[in-house]
Formats: sequence, C-alpha cells, structure tokens
Amino acid sequence: MKIAVVGSGYVGLVTGACLANLGNNVICIDNDKKRIAILKKGKIPFYEPGLPELVEKNYKAGRLSFSFDLGAAVESCEVIFIAVGTPPKKGGEADISAVEAVACAIAKELKKNNSKNLGFKVIVNKSTVPVGMGDVVTTILVKNGVSERFFSVVSNPEFLREGSALSDFMNPDRIVIGASNNKAFNVITELYRPLNAHIIFTSVKSAELIKYASNSFLATKISFINEIANICERVGSDVVEVANGMGLDKRIGRQFLNSGLGYGGSCFPKDISALNHLAKTLGYNAKILDAVSMVNDDQIKRFLQKIKKRFKSLKNRKITVLGLAFKPETDDLRDAPSLKIIAALLKSGAKILAYDPVAEPSAKKSLPKVSFFSDLYQAVKGADAIVIATEWPEFKEIDFDRVKKLVRSAVVFDGRNMYDKKKLAEAGFEYVGVGR
Ligand code: NAD
Repeated sequence: MKIAVVGSGYVGLVTGACLANLGNNVICIDNDKKRIAILKKGKIPFYEPGLPELVEKNYKAGRLSFSFDLGAAVESCEVIFIAVGTPPKKGGEADISAVEAVACAIAKELKKNNSKNLGFKVIVNKSTVPVGMGDVVTTILVKNGVSERFFSVVSNPEFLREGSALSDFMNPDRIVIGASNNKAFNVITELYRPLNAHIIFTSVKSAELIKYASNSFLATKISFINEIANICERVGSDVVEVANGMGLDKRIGRQFLNSGLGYGGSCFPKDISALNHLAKTLGYNAKILDAVSMVNDDQIKRFLQKIKKRFKSLKNRKITVLGLAFKPETDDLRDAPSLKIIAALLKSGAKILAYDPVAEPSAKKSLPKVSFFSDLYQAVKGADAIVIATEWPEFKEIDFDRVKKLVRSAVVFDGRNMYDKKKLAEAGFEYVGVGR
C-alpha cells in the first residue's frame, strides 16, 4: 500500500518505518525542514532503540522516504496518517492546531479529486486527540470543498511506549480502529493484517476515548501506588513488598505499580489534563482525574522535602542526579520529573551534577546551570547526595563500593525504588526511598 505519515516524531517515524518494513511504500512528512534534512542524511532526530537500523534498512530498500511536500504525498497515497503533536495548552486542553493545519493542507490537495481521479483516501488520526476530532477533521475537509465520497476519517490511536516503540508497534496488545464505514475499516485492517494482532472495531468517538481512558487508567495506577507508599511510610510497611503482593493478583497486575517520583513524559500528564478538561467543558467533574494529577504533583514535593530535611541547608551542596529522561531507554525530557527536582534544588542553592546514558544532549539545552558528565563515576565525585530520577537498567549495576570512595557523604535518595535498601546499607549508604 502507498502510505503517507504526516509528522515524523516518535510516533510518526516509528509508524512509517514499521509499515515500510511490512512491505508498504511509505513517505514520512514533516513541516520541520531541519528534521527532514536530518532524516535524509540517514540520521534519527531522537533516541529510540532499533529505529536507526530499521529506518536505514527500509530507506535503502526504497520503501521509506522523507519529504517536506505534503501535497505530492497526499496525491499519491491511499492512506494518510496524521501523527503530529497535540501538546497541552495552559488551561489543560489539548492543542489541536497542528492536526487542524494538516487537515486543511490535505483538503487543499483532495479538492483536486473533483477534477482528477485521485481515488478514495483513508485519513487516519494517530495523534491523541479530544473526542470528536474525527468529526472536526471531516468538517474541515467538507468545508474546503472535498466531497465525502472521496475520503473517510478513521481513528487509530497509538499505544507504543518510547524506549520499546518498535516491539510495541509490531506486537500490540490490540489495534483499535474507529471507523464510520466498512470500506475505511477494511483498508486499515488489511494494512495491519501481517501483525496478527487483536483488532477492535469501534466508532470513531469510542476509539478516541479508548486512548485517553487507557493512559488515564495507567496514570491512576501510578498515583494509587504512590498514595499507598505514603501510607506505608506512616505505618512502617514497604511499598515494594505491598506492590508485589498486590500485583500477583491477575485482576490487578504488577505493571504500573511502581511508586516513586510519579509519572512524567509527553503523554500521561497532558492526556489526563485533556480528558479532565473535556469532561469539565461538558459539565462533568471527573474527581478521580483531579486526584490522580494532584497526587502526582505532590509526589515530587514530598521527595524534595526528604532531601531538604536531611540537610540543614542545601546551599552549595553537591547533588548528583542520575537519570534525566522521563523514563529509561529514551532521551525524551518532556515533563520529566528530573527537571522539577533539579529546578527546586538549584533554587535552594545546591550545585547539580548530572549523568544520563542518552539524554545529555537534549538536557544540556534546557539545563544551563547543571554540570554534565559522560561517566557516572565522574558525576558522583565529591557529591553530598545522589538522587535517582530515572530507572535506567545500568543503574542497577552501579558499583556502590566504588561510589562510596568517591562521594563526600554516602546518601542515596532513590526516587525510583531501584535498590535493595539492606544491600545499600551494607555498602555503607544512608538510603531514602519512597514508601519504604
Ligand atoms: P513529536 O513531537 O515527537 O512529533 C510530532 C512531529 O509532528 C514533529 O516532528 C513536528 O515537527 C511535526 N509536525 C507538527 N506540525 C506539523 C504539520 N503541520 N505538518 C507536518 N508535520 C508537523 O510527537 P509524538 O511524541 O510523536 O506524538 C505525536 C502524537 O502521538 C501526539 O498526539 C501524542 O500524544 C501521540 N502519542 C505519543 C506517544 C509517545 O510515546 N510519544 C505514544 C502514543 C501516542
């Protein structure tokens, strides 16, 4: 199939590369000229394991190309994915202006269908959008003179996780296709057929809500276990033991029951806010969503209080922050808890040393007052405390005997509950976790 993917970010580029690898002919479009130039040089503008190799393979095979020219792609492709960003606005609602702009640009090209035979186009919304956006895109096209005979808008939300995006895309738990007619549903089903995945056919509006509801539920699990962690600290239980005991119950499941600094990233905070905002504009007060965000915000404040309580003053204290990305295996810093921690510590007069296996280049731009190190053991030299902000697997292998000889005082604030507190105590460290 000939496919255009508009938006060559985490979701668009992964979608494009994976669909090309399934044998389709894919053009990835972006309105960022620099990004297209980088991609054409064979480079990837962000870190995602396995993606450079997959892009190179399919680019060389002639199945994957990159372009700034949306018009030509729309004309030649039968399926057009929209995978542009939908960041939060100040009031919490999703900024849908990029999706609207793409819909307008598609409409301009499809108008030619009235004179030329461009065939039936399926426009697939992969961006996470407020419920009703499918209708908005359809209206934009119709208002711009495109007949509904020539297109259909489908919602196909994406559930991949940064860091494991390729395997998530190729082995999804489910594929949701929200369509208003069988013709469009059949085209997209055919596209995904090689994945042998469980496909769910829903209305467009249900598909749109499935995405928001799924992310909100996962965020709820994280805030729930953080509430339990805060109770653990008061009653003397260990939240890791509690989560293990809860998680073995199949009805509950162990995933997303890790307490710590809370969730961050480009999706959970904005999707919870957008759903909450949508509910409020429709006159419904979604109390759980309010609580989930409040618990998440408080989690960082509580963690900072622990650091401040430990040291009489943070002025000129050297604090090493290990991990900057919002989660392991990505360099994405959007809404990363580390940024809030670092900002607060700097404000209290601390000096921040930092190490992250891949996020240093993107972090350097937004954290000019931080000293970065490309070696973890260099980063802890002379530190008064170590803060674990991202649970990178390599941090599990830290040689704490070696670290002990390098730091000024052996204190670990484990914001991700990565370590066995007894083992750290045996290595001579004062250990402060979350809910333990
Ligand atoms: P991103 O910021 O990494 O990429 C978006 C891309 O779209 C950028 O390259 C940008 O230049 C481009 N773009 C913006 N406006 C454009 C326009 N008018 N024409 C062409 N290109 C344009 O975003 P992302 O993380 O890939 O997210 C995209 C969507 O997918 C969002 O709605 C997000 O919520 C959703 N999503 C993201 C993830 C994730 O893990 N990142 C997972 C599932 C769903």
